[in-house]
Amino acid sequence: MTYDITVIGAGIVGCSIAYRLSKYKAKVLVLDKENDIANEVTMANSAIVHAGDDPEDGTLKAKLNLRGAELYTGLLEKLHVRYRQTGAYTVMTSPEQEETFNALVKRTSIRHIPYEILDGDTARRNEPNLSDKVIKVLSIPSTRVIIPWEFAEAEMEVALRNGVELKLNTEVKGIRKDEEDDGYVLTTNHEEIRTRYIVNAAGLFSDEIAAMIGTEVPKILPRKGEYFVLSHNARDYVSHIIYPMPTAKGKGVLAVPTVDGNVLLGPDSEYTDTKEENNNTTAGLGIVRAQLTEILKNIPYPEVIRIFAGLRPSTAYKDFYIEKDPFHAGIVHLAGIDSPGVASAPGIAEYVENLLNLPYEIDETRDMTREKPFDFSALSIEEKNDFIHAHPEYGHIVCRCEQISEGEIVEAIHRPVGAKTVKGVKKRVRPGMGKCQGGFCEPLVVDILARELNIPKEEVLYDSLSSHILTKREER
Ligand SMILES: Cc1cc2nc3c(=O)[nH]c(=O)nc-3n(C[C@H](O)[C@H](O)[C@H](O)COP(=O)(O)OP(=O)(O)OC[C@H]3O[C@@H](n4cnc5c(N)ncnc54)[C@H](O)[C@@H]3O)c2cc1C
Repeated sequence: MTYDITVIGAGIVGCSIAYRLSKYKAKVLVLDKENDIANEVTMANSAIVHAGDDPEDGTLKAKLNLRGAELYTGLLEKLHVRYRQTGAYTVMTSPEQEETFNALVKRTSIRHIPYEILDGDTARRNEPNLSDKVIKVLSIPSTRVIIPWEFAEAEMEVALRNGVELKLNTEVKGIRKDEEDDGYVLTTNHEEIRTRYIVNAAGLFSDEIAAMIGTEVPKILPRKGEYFVLSHNARDYVSHIIYPMPTAKGKGVLAVPTVDGNVLLGPDSEYTDTKEENNNTTAGLGIVRAQLTEILKNIPYPEVIRIFAGLRPSTAYKDFYIEKDPFHAGIVHLAGIDSPGVASAPGIAEYVENLLNLPYEIDETRDMTREKPFDFSALSIEEKNDFIHAHPEYGHIVCRCEQISEGEIVEAIHRPVGAKTVKGVKKRVRPGMGKCQGGFCEPLVVDILARELNIPKEEVLYDSLSSHILTKREER
């Protein structure tokens, strides 16, 4: 197989790059080792499109966060992706933090990000669960939350429609110069792929991908962050994203109201020596709890329905590393794409496109928009009733916690970047995201997947190729 450009990694960054490159008259391929797009770092984070006030001056992070936040404004509309403009409160809880607070305000102002400074009592009137210790607040109304995998899916959908190819379960295992042509040969677990250009957007593994061609990029030092998820019952606990004062360790432990009406509490920040495991720990969750008490009160822990952890692909370089390979023309490596990687993704994609400086023509007729997806949950009761008369599968509720119907699950399976696993369905339409965490609906989702994919139930996967749910059929 021969391609013009191959993007390694279908996280939010790889999908953003594929979306941008899909306007070229070129054969573009995206590879991912996982069984779904956006299954690694993009799947477990705080999901904030930071406004761009936090990264240090002069960094690529500052430049691309600001540009990314700007590009999101148009893209969220163009691609019809859901978001919530919650705004953010960065809270000061002691006079010793005054210097950091003032520096942050100065940076926000210089970067032309609209802001307001509130005293503690005014902020508590808007956010009654802010700690009594909060003295002053930097309010940034433009901060948004998205669902990073939903955004990645929307971009990939457009890219596929424009001719990009996506190969999942395809792990790059080696890269060598093509002896016969002016390009490279990628060895994967399935086949050899010839390509002229390579974009290494492999997240936690981008240092290993670079090493395959003998190039050293900053070593990835995985940094774990752990979270609590609160149920919808606690949806009003906070209405803004609440940040503490940033420290050398990062943005700190936050409270984040999500697009779907949950609240995330976390993450801590601990280096770990594995890229494969992101399990929760008593110690990590203990740090989250301890740090939250500095900025919030009345934390409704009985409403915790889930804990999870994510791994940041951090480096000692501390900034995004996005560079052309110094020895191999046509290869661009991205390393250290930790926070604000979600917020910066569209800016990163633009930056990579400029670095590549491709010789291919742009097809001005390519449609870079996505039609608004049908959203059953947004209909009024009357509209739902009418719709159910014509489509009875929308009247069959599969997930009682999140009120998800069979019709919505079937639609998620048959989308252009459709769900092929239980986790894929959960990511796209939320059965299993509610209070019972799939206890009631998971067997029904397995049935629907088996029927729609036309496979036996034993072949339905939770996530990866080895994650079978039912191991054998019992004859009775
Ligand atoms: C705890 C935490 C909180 C965060 N909060 C925020 C936030 O609020 N806002 C923000 O802007 N950023 C945040 N971030 C950072 C953000 O999540 C990341 O910057 C972003 O998701 C990185 O996306 P990516 O596409 O580079 O990586 P990934 O999503 O990891 O994608 C890389 C892909 O490459 C694939 N891959 C790897 N190796 C191979 C191979 N050999 N062959 C084929 N495919 C391969 C992987 O399977 C993966 O799908 C946070 C991160 C963490 C962990």
